[in-house]
Amino acid sequence: MSGGTTLRALAPGKTNLCLFIGPTRGDGLHELVSLIEPLSLADELTLAPLPASARGGGDAPAADEVLCPGVDGPNLAATALSRYRDASGWDGPPRRLTIVKRVPVAAGMGGGSGDAAAALRLAAHAAGRPGDPLIAQLAPGLGADVPSQVEPAAVLVGGAGEHVERVTPPAAHGVLVLPSVERLSTPDVFREADRLGGGRDAADLLELRERVREGLLPELIVNDLEAAARSLCPAIEPALAAARAAGADQAIVSGSGPTVVGLYWGEDGERRAAAAAEQLRERFPGATAARPVAPDFASVVVVRD
Ligand code: ATP
Repeated sequence: MSGGTTLRALAPGKTNLCLFIGPTRGDGLHELVSLIEPLSLADELTLAPLPASARGGGDAPAADEVLCPGVDGPNLAATALSRYRDASGWDGPPRRLTIVKRVPVAAGMGGGSGDAAAALRLAAHAAGRPGDPLIAQLAPGLGADVPSQVEPAAVLVGGAGEHVERVTPPAAHGVLVLPSVERLSTPDVFREADRLGGGRDAADLLELRERVREGLLPELIVNDLEAAARSLCPAIEPALAAARAAGADQAIVSGSGPTVVGLYWGEDGERRAAAAAEQLRERFPGATAARPVAPDFASVVVVRD
């Protein structure tokens, strides 16, 4: 492809329809079992040639640039881009990666991980190697949630998130997303869960994995991190109650929180979730409805050649 091509990809936010936490491993991460689904609430990433005006002077080769309003500090998508360059040897002209954030930040929806996975897809495409196996090799080193976002689909994850198994998507449903004004750090929530105790043993985890694989029955829609997230962020409680009062069949904390999601099952689930979002938006700014998406939702598209 030419150095002037502009590419775009969506990075879906995710929610965990169930999240079971087991023992801590030698590397300090917890064993877990989770059914993860990607949602239509997505960040938008554009990879374009770095404008000459942004390249600065001097002889040093210009570096890629990542713009991500709303996220301060090192960006996981920038790390993904540079690791792909290093590992693949791709030395195409420098790019500007622009990220429009729509997925709430530090909110249990895997926004950073999704952006990193999308950055890998974009870089491989720009290098002329769409679907490069290197993407899957680099993903685990970027974070436990990145492998499940490489090809966003309904997946059952194990290990600390790195074992990813595609599963039949759950029955039709819509998702109400209630973001919080607060943020939670995932490691803090795991630490709080450890402090509260009650983790599952390896045998329990194995059994739950088999049960979830057979089908997501309502009693399996459980998030083991919920108590810890609620302990750190009391505002979660009224959000759960509000989602239930707005007709959600289940209301759960998404991942490590503090986002709350309401699940509305059935063919009219999306419509019911949208009506609930409308009803709750004044009390919960940013309340929105989303739907589960398939991998092609996140495919790289050429915007300009
Ligand atoms: P997860 O569910 O994967 O544990 P999360 O959804 O709770 O994570 P993220 O939105 O991924 O959290 O953000 C976690 C931290 O990562 C943020 O506080 C932010 O500083 C940092 N970060 C780095 N890159 C990004 C990015 N592209 N988008 C969001 N956050 C990012």
